[in-house]
Amino acid sequence: MRRILIFVSVLILSAQQITVAAPKNVILLVGDGMGMAEITLARNYQFDSGAGLYIDTMDFHGTAIVNALRESDPNLIAFVGDSASGGTVLATGQRTAVRRIATTAKYDAPIETILELAKRSSLNTGLVTTAVITDATPASFAAHVTNRYCMKPGDAPCEGDISIIEQMIDLDIDILLGGGERLLPAIRDEKTIEQIALDKGYTIFKDRASLLNINADNDNEKLWGIFSDYHMPIEWQGHGGRMPKKLEAGGGILGFFKDDNNVIFPQARACEANPNHDGIPKLEEMTNAALSKLAAKSKTNEKGFFLMIEGASIDKQSHAANPCGVIGEMLAFDRTVKMVAQFAKMQGDTLVIVTADHGGSTQTIHHPYYENYKRTEENIPGLYEMLLTNGGNELSVYYGTNNISDQAHTGINVPVFSHGLPRDNPLRGTIRQTDIFGVMKSYLLN
Ligand SMILES: [Zn+2]
Repeated sequence: MRRILIFVSVLILSAQQITVAAPKNVILLVGDGMGMAEITLARNYQFDSGAGLYIDTMDFHGTAIVNALRESDPNLIAFVGDSASGGTVLATGQRTAVRRIATTAKYDAPIETILELAKRSSLNTGLVTTAVITDATPASFAAHVTNRYCMKPGDAPCEGDISIIEQMIDLDIDILLGGGERLLPAIRDEKTIEQIALDKGYTIFKDRASLLNINADNDNEKLWGIFSDYHMPIEWQGHGGRMPKKLEAGGGILGFFKDDNNVIFPQARACEANPNHDGIPKLEEMTNAALSKLAAKSKTNEKGFFLMIEGASIDKQSHAANPCGVIGEMLAFDRTVKMVAQFAKMQGDTLVIVTADHGGSTQTIHHPYYENYKRTEENIPGLYEMLLTNGGNELSVYYGTNNISDQAHTGINVPVFSHGLPRDNPLRGTIRQTDIFGVMKSYLLN
C-alpha cells in the first residue's frame, strides 16, 4: 500500500521552551549501538585509566531511557529497540516498533522527521554514515516504510512501500555520504536509481580522492558520495584477524587430557589496522566534506542546516562480537565529534548533540587473575577476548548474549552529550530518548 503522507501531528509536552537566541544549525551525531559499555571499552583500550576521549570533555547531560513499542499492541513496551525504532525516536520524538522507519507501530502512519521539518523550512540538509546510506539510522530521518530492509525498488520487504532510496532522493537532501553502490542499478519506471539521482541534479562520486577534492564553493550542487557496495569497511581488526572465542578447559598431557576445569586464556594482543579499510574515507573525512559544503551553502541560505552523522559500525561490530572493530569505530566517531565541536565553535549558532539509538552487548569483565575469579568453562559461557591496551595492560572483553555469530542489542540507557545548549535545558539527568527531538526542533525552528 502506498502511503499517503498525512503526518501525525506531534505535541511535544515534555521539552521546555528554550528562550535563548536560536542557533541556525543542528548537528546530530549518532553512535549506533554506543552504550556506556562500548564507550568504556574504547576508553580503556586507548587511554588505560584516563578520561581521554573527546566526548569525556563535553557537556554530559546524563542518560536517555530507551525503549520501543510492540507491533501487535503499541500500548505494550519492548524494552530493547533496534536502529529503526531508535532512529525513529531521534528523528521524530515518537516511539515505534522495531524494524519500522518513521511510521507508527501497528497503524502504519508516517511521522514527520526533523529533516523533513528542516526541508519544509528551507534549511539545507545532509546525512553521513559509515553504513549503506539506506541503513535504518539515516533512513529514519528521510523515509517512511514498514520494514527497514525495503531499501531499493524491488526489495521483497517493500510490499508496495516506496523504497528508502527513492524517498531519500525525492526529498532532495543536499548531501548523502556513505556506502551503497548496489542501490544504483535498481530500476524505477524504466530508469535506474543512478539516472534518477543524476536527473535530480546530484553529483555522484565513488572514491576518497573525489571526496577530499569537492568544490565547496559550488553551493548549487547536491552531493551523493558512495564508497562501498554496502556497509563501509571498518578501521580496525583483532591481532591477525583474531576474534573472541569460547574458552575451553585444557592443559593436560599433550593437550589430550584436561587436567583441571580451568580454561586457557588467550595471550593478550593489541588491535591492528584492518587492511580492507585502505583507501576508504574515514568518518571525519566525510564529515569534513559535508561541513564545508553546508557552511558554503550557509553563505546564501541564512536559515542554516540540519546534519545527521552516524558511526554505524560500533553496533555492527558488537553484533559480530569483535571488540577491536568496536574500538576502532568508537575512536573514529570520537574524532569526528571533536571535529564537529570545533566547527561549531568557529561557526557559532550551531547545536551539537551526541547520543546513541540503543546499547550493544560489549562487556568489560574481570581479568582472570582477579582474586576469587572462577576460571571454569561454566563461568565463562560466552565469547572471550584478551586485549593488550596502549598502556600495556591486559583487558578482558566478553560477549555473552548468545554463542553464535550475531550478538543482541541491550536495553541499557544511552548517554547524551552536547555543545551549544544553555545550562537550563531539558536534557539534564535521566531523560527520555523522545525528549531529544523537541530540543533539536526548538533550536532549528525558533
Ligand atoms: Zn544493531
